[in-house]
Amino acid sequence: MLQLERKPLARETAQNQIEAGGGHVVEIPGESDWRDAAEQVRDAVQVDIRFSSFKDGRGFTLATQLRERAGFTGRLRAVGDLIPDQARYLHRVGFDDVAPERTDLAADWAKARARFSHAYQPAQDKVTPIFRHRQARPGDDLAALNARYRGADAADILRDAIRNEWAGRIAVLSSFGAEAAVGLHMIARIAPDTPVIFLDTGRLFAQTEQYQRALTETLGLTNIRMLRPDAGEAAAEDGDDRLWQRDPDACCALRKVRPLDKVIGEYDALITGRKRFHGGERLALPVVERINGRIRVNPLASWDAEKVNAYFQRFDLPRHPLSDMGYASIGCWPCTAPVQDDGDVRSGRWAGRNKTECGIHTPSRIAAE
Ligand code: SF4
Repeated sequence: MLQLERKPLARETAQNQIEAGGGHVVEIPGESDWRDAAEQVRDAVQVDIRFSSFKDGRGFTLATQLRERAGFTGRLRAVGDLIPDQARYLHRVGFDDVAPERTDLAADWAKARARFSHAYQPAQDKVTPIFRHRQARPGDDLAALNARYRGADAADILRDAIRNEWAGRIAVLSSFGAEAAVGLHMIARIAPDTPVIFLDTGRLFAQTEQYQRALTETLGLTNIRMLRPDAGEAAAEDGDDRLWQRDPDACCALRKVRPLDKVIGEYDALITGRKRFHGGERLALPVVERINGRIRVNPLASWDAEKVNAYFQRFDLPRHPLSDMGYASIGCWPCTAPVQDDGDVRSGRWAGRNKTECGIHTPSRIAAE
């Protein structure tokens, strides 16, 4: 993972204060981590996001994250090296204004700035902003739920979650990876029409796409919900198809986190296939947890590799085609490698980088829980 320098991000200028009518104005670099930025703009009436180059799309990502994930509703202004062709997209990701520094394009900018006559309005269907407190709902007593599920069979946990606890308000999140067939098989036997959310990042192995289709048919799953990154955002932020290399966190945000964020509000709970034996942050995985105000159910949390393999054999489940080639955990092709001799199950993911999770299960550090 690229390590951003941990230094104060925001700077405030007297000129900015004047322009904002005396309110608290901060400027942050477009390449900032959104969580750090969110902490520093809490009280601001205006945030200026600085673009060091019009070719660097990270400011777009940061704006989207401040709007959709942090719930920032003040004024957002893009400043720095920008070109008029970017006006449409700047407005779309939530900017209210732009202060370009290129004087040679002043005439074109005069026309393009007309887009910014309407201030940002938070959309009603966006994910619950993390600055707002989510209403408590039945089934959110984590201690009671974990006590109830302690020692229970995974299939029984799933049956209770799908038919009782979050009936009609629960979906499964599946990568159709190396172990996915186990949980999906259980779910197919309980309720094959349970929504299965599949993040098609545009970077999946062809074998995963084939396996997804074959396994869906074999198990009789009837409600696959394919989520893809926004085409406009992908073009603006990853025009050279190298974002995974430059900034894998930004790439996962574009291709996984944000597509999921757009629909997660439709469900009270998501089922995952994560397990403690995967190691890293998963070592202490509870069966039920809350991440940024939403329930995750991890019915296979206590399972190990032996139990997974035994289940595959017992029900003669098809394996992912890459499993036999040493791929123990399978994500996007640029960021997945076979496991080396002494590696743990997820050591082939983002190998050589300080990154172990894509972010869809990562709690925000400033979540209002
Ligand atoms: S796993 Fe790699 S290619 Fe896939 S979204 Fe994340 S950084 Fe991009």
